[in-house]
Amino acid sequence: MAIPVELSCVLCGRRFDPCEPVLTCPDCGLDGTLDVTYDYESAAKILNRASLANCKRRDLWRYIAVLPVSGEESIPDLAVGWTPLYRSKGLAEKWGVGEVYIKDDGRNPTGSLKDRASAVGVSKALEAGRKVVSCASTGNAASSLAGFAAVAGLKSVIFVPEEAPHAKVAQLLVYGAEVVLVRGGYEKAFDLATQAIDAWGWYNRNCAINPYLVEGKKTCAMEIAEQLEWDIPDVVFVAVGDGCIISGLYKGFLDLLRLGITDRVPRIIGVQAEGAAPICKAFRKGSGKVEFAPAQTVADSISVGSPRNWAKALRAARESFGEMITVTDDEILSAIPELARSTGVFGEPAGVTGFAGFRKMAEQGLIGKNERVVLIVTGNGLKDIEGAKRSVGAPVVVNADLDELRKVLGDGLGI
Ligand SMILES: *Cc1c(COP(=O)(O)O)cnc(C)c1O
Repeated sequence: MAIPVELSCVLCGRRFDPCEPVLTCPDCGLDGTLDVTYDYESAAKILNRASLANCKRRDLWRYIAVLPVSGEESIPDLAVGWTPLYRSKGLAEKWGVGEVYIKDDGRNPTGSLKDRASAVGVSKALEAGRKVVSCASTGNAASSLAGFAAVAGLKSVIFVPEEAPHAKVAQLLVYGAEVVLVRGGYEKAFDLATQAIDAWGWYNRNCAINPYLVEGKKTCAMEIAEQLEWDIPDVVFVAVGDGCIISGLYKGFLDLLRLGITDRVPRIIGVQAEGAAPICKAFRKGSGKVEFAPAQTVADSISVGSPRNWAKALRAARESFGEMITVTDDEILSAIPELARSTGVFGEPAGVTGFAGFRKMAEQGLIGKNERVVLIVTGNGLKDIEGAKRSVGAPVVVNADLDELRKVLGDGLGI
């Protein structure tokens, strides 16, 4: 159980006591998101290779010594994390790199990596005695928060863009959230949520704004390291929207280093959709500031024109000696069946965007022949069936007649 020792602004470095009711830096405004740090020396005494080898928990709470909750009492009873890491020899061979691993975070309880953040967020809300939690989301953070709020007996008020995929909206309603569909896209939903959270005083689960949520997401990196028996990979690919996941990954690898468990951090490659790439643009320009612009992409989960965690995201890519790249919607869509057919993992469009970025860099010879690569699949394919259907052909339709079936199928399927 770790009580964070300090919060510090990612832009100006100003420090805050975790007891102060700040979410972002008052000097830097919403851009000044906060880093959470712990007493790593004390934490290392209870969290190390030996303690983990004996740890019975098979979920993200195995890393509770560096998670910002004060005890196990407030942990919602819904298993999150410890998702599988598959090795794909086929993809490594096809794309000419040493090893390829798929981290399937679509296997989390509500179907996306966001569950790691919601688990921590809901624990924090319970610890603070809050009754209502709220967020704005392109969809997955919303369904995730609704699920975890349901187990914890909290009310959730959720703001999503009107055009969010039906499966995600259905999830929200099934979990009993108060759902507000907002016209005008994710940016408008975020703005309205921020105002409403202020006005009603609900617990804020907006990932960039609430510094503790990236702490949940960092456990994905910790699991990758542990599942690879602490032999840190060379490169990790992940989709980027608001920039919280990439920030969490970097933080996870960094915390392991600070704990003395590992000795390095992999290059982290953030992949954005061409139509929603403000962080990538700033990275390429070497700029210290991200310019917001309208977003348009088939990958709804990363259709973010005003990324809230841009400063931490830029830092993650830069300090890990990584990259930020873009892929087109066609490259995203074609990555869905290729990943499913080669590994059995079905990702939503944003879920396979990291893989699409990997293919592009491998094709350009930018990944070493002996390098070990991890691709994070951030969301399950069943979240966005319309998107998936755009990536494949239509099935045949026949009468229940064997001769007709023979004609339709042709000779291609003979043995
Ligand atoms: C939220 C999300 C992302 C992007 O994460 P950010 O923290 O917004 O950068 C990528 N893929 C999926 C499936 C998501 O739900």
